[in-house]
Amino acid sequence: LTLTCKINYKNQARLSMLKLDNHLSGRHFLHIPGPSPVPSRILRAISYQTIDHRGPEFGAFGLKVLDGIKKIFKTEQPVIIYSASGTGSWEGALVNVLNPGDKVLFYETGHFANLWRALAKKIGIEVEVVGKAGADTWRWGVDASVIEERLRKDTQHEIKAVCVVHNETSTGMTSNIAAVRKAIDDAKHPALLLVDSVSGLGSADYEHDKWGADVTVSGSQKGLMLPPGIGFNALSPKAIEASKHSKIPKAYLAWDEILESNKTGYWPTTPSTNLMYGLHEAIDMMQTEGLDTIFARHQRLAEACRRAVAAWGLENQCLDPNAYSPVLTAIVVPEGMDADVLRKHALEKFNLSLGTGLGKLKGKIFRIGHLGDCNELSLMAALSGVEMSFSSIGYKPKASGVVAAQEYLK
Ligand code: PLP
Repeated sequence: LTLTCKINYKNQARLSMLKLDNHLSGRHFLHIPGPSPVPSRILRAISYQTIDHRGPEFGAFGLKVLDGIKKIFKTEQPVIIYSASGTGSWEGALVNVLNPGDKVLFYETGHFANLWRALAKKIGIEVEVVGKAGADTWRWGVDASVIEERLRKDTQHEIKAVCVVHNETSTGMTSNIAAVRKAIDDAKHPALLLVDSVSGLGSADYEHDKWGADVTVSGSQKGLMLPPGIGFNALSPKAIEASKHSKIPKAYLAWDEILESNKTGYWPTTPSTNLMYGLHEAIDMMQTEGLDTIFARHQRLAEACRRAVAAWGLENQCLDPNAYSPVLTAIVVPEGMDADVLRKHALEKFNLSLGTGLGKLKGKIFRIGHLGDCNELSLMAALSGVEMSFSSIGYKPKASGVVAAQEYLK
């Protein structure tokens, strides 16, 4: 009875939280792999008064943000900022550089690689899927040799682009993008390299120019620590050239008018002014901490999380140590356990949100996000919440993951 009351109370409090007429003590532990928690500095910036997006102040502000975001992508080239989620930015990348019926190679790493491919198909792109031969492609990072082999066979250069996901959020795998670029170059193939770094950017090292990406797609709600609502396309000169010949119908997502307006710090349509305030603040925070320090922090937390998983006696969805994600860890639950039942306990009893299994992994895995505004104690809280939830559903792990993570982090 006590337990039921507790659950009801917490549910009630969580719903009331949205109505802002009740108080839930402590904080919500948002440990899904994005959206990630938004730091109060950013929330405060977002709450500044909206200004005229065509007024004199906005241009200077727009230029500052457009310049700052280039440093996060590590590019000298323009970065398009859309008022869109990652999906809109996926579409932006495809419709600007391709032509109707073009063939595109998609490397399958998980649910998001599949969703991008499905989107491409819907807009009239011919898609071909590749993956690691003889292996479950949802458990291994991108094997660039598979791409090279396929491109070498494409002597007529029918394949116009290669699409890969840098950090596959559904499976917790980060792939080597420089190796994919090398594979395309070694095959002496002119295909464009389109990369999804929606959940990688700002958490896992990413170098748009150095690694030779033609378009990098990203979003605001993961490593950038913003709420959802802004998406990005970082461009290359080759992508901009391709966009001049692309015949796929497009309007809002077309780069040309945006690039023209951006020269003076403006947009052809109304930008998300307040999210841009947040972005400005996020860039400042990230530069203060330093990108390398941020990446090292993510690696350290990810290692602590993996040690907890190993102590529990559970498997990491990612079987490829070279592809372990610094952003999130996807954990395979034992036969007979429903991962969503565990997640439900974590949420209702401990106010902890864990990521669900997506696509064919529904119920089979849960995901712990350790990205963005996350530190040792936030991760430890999430691990404790998982361990207490195991106990609450009657599962006894091999050993304490909390202790294993503490040993590593102390
Ligand atoms: N790509 C990846 C790797 C993602 O993780 C997500 C969302 O989580 C998307 C694309 C789609 O982005 P959105 O949900 O913002 O449209």
